[in-house]
Amino acid sequence: MEIDSFLPIRPEFEFLRKSSFKKMGDQEGFRIKSIKLRGKLSQGLALPYAMFPDAMTAFHKTRAYDPDEGNFDVTDILGVQKYEAPIPAELSGQVAGNFPSFIKKTDQERCQNLGVEIFETNKDARYEVTVKLDGTSFTGFFNNGEDGVCSRNWSLKVNEENQYNSFVRMFINSGLQSVLHSYGKNIAVSGELMGPGIQGNRENLREHRLYVFDIYNIDEQRYMTPDERHDTMDELWTYGVDGNIVRHVPILHNYVTLPQLNISNTDDLLAFAEGPSLTHSIREGLVYKSFDGKFSFKTISNKFLLKSED
Ligand code: AMP
Ligand code: MN
Repeated sequence: MEIDSFLPIRPEFEFLRKSSFKKMGDQEGFRIKSIKLRGKLSQGLALPYAMFPDAMTAFHKTRAYDPDEGNFDVTDILGVQKYEAPIPAELSGQVAGNFPSFIKKTDQERCQNLGVEIFETNKDARYEVTVKLDGTSFTGFFNNGEDGVCSRNWSLKVNEENQYNSFVRMFINSGLQSVLHSYGKNIAVSGELMGPGIQGNRENLREHRLYVFDIYNIDEQRYMTPDERHDTMDELWTYGVDGNIVRHVPILHNYVTLPQLNISNTDDLLAFAEGPSLTHSIREGLVYKSFDGKFSFKTISNKFLLKSED
């Protein structure tokens, strides 16, 4: 169970209660975090599979159909979820429904899980390397005449009742909602909503800002490449999106290969993740996106993981 796993309350996990008990919304469980154990960094929890009879049963059933050895994912069987910091009340707002199924969520895979894909399959990839900002995921979209704004997991009501919600305010006040209509293409703009009341406002922003990191082409069901995204951003700004409020996430390197950055293994990637963000001396990490738009991953700063309180 890698870091950011949220384990359910069950007897096998009770030994974690003192160190890791945590609430996520109205659920109780145990959160796995990076910790130092005897001077070494621990990035997860490994338990013998014999401890979990339900997982063993499911494993053996599966193997009856697929005799190949291989990984067996027990996430759902054990009820393990991804830990997400709860969204405070002024942010959560009135929910209109689920995150739209015609857009993809903005998750990134941790580099530690992708050794072969990074250093073999995609070894010649050219990347856009951006700073990973620690706010909350925002998506504003326009699709066949209708617009909407979403948090990481929900679509929110854009109405009177929600007029003080930070997502809705950003969507309207930045000009994004009206510009998406005049622009008229079916797209979803995703960015990190940053500022007062969000994740402790580590960057000390005085007002809310949206740092765009991805634009989704809904008709083609794919993320735009970095080049397409920059062209689209330019057009949205020209159409009237406020460039002071809506920016692009900081780009650290553009069109680089990993060898050009002297990165040849996961340790190099993690060392390279360390550094400042907008105003803070310790950033959360970096995100690498290939220029063909097909491959991406995150590298999280170990300093950040060990320091962050939440
Ligand atoms: P995590 O929050 O660790 O699950 O990582 C994925 C999230 O990072 C995305 O859902 C975004 O909300 C956020 N994020 C922040 N900065 C960036 C960035 N530069 N590129 C992509 N995602 C980012
Ligand atoms: Mn995050």
